[in-house]
Amino acid sequence: MSSTNCIFCKIIAGEIPAKIVHRDNGIMAIEDVNPQAPVHLLVFPERHVANIAEHTFRGSADEIACLMEIAAELGAKNAGGFRLVVNTGADSGQTVDHLHVHVLAGRHMSWPPG
Ligand code: 5GP
Ligand code: ZN
Repeated sequence: MSSTNCIFCKIIAGEIPAKIVHRDNGIMAIEDVNPQAPVHLLVFPERHVANIAEHTFRGSADEIACLMEIAAELGAKNAGGFRLVVNTGADSGQTVDHLHVHVLAGRHMSWPPG
């Protein structure tokens, strides 16, 4: 179930190239095209879901567990720690309406975020 105008669905379908770092169990991880840290990955389900709020509404605990576990595994490769970010909705800065987890690592990060 893909969305025709969705960038990540096009990457999943192989219509847009991406540096794939993981693909298993219906979850894909790619390098962000505009990295905000030395390590910046995007982890998302192959099933099109607009955001985490919509996902909760539909309900699929296994998929969310898999998504977060893979994001954490990829992040944990970085000895200095990592940050997982799930932007949701316009105010958060979400620009791609296909649920994704940012994995950021490789530099010190401040808090709170901007
Ligand atoms: P958001 O702002 O929705 O939380 O994150 C979307 C992310 O997708 C951004 O960090 C942006 O750089 C990344 N992105 C947008 N288009 C592409 C693309 O075509 N390929 C890749 N690899 N990343 C993309
Ligand atoms: Zn999509």
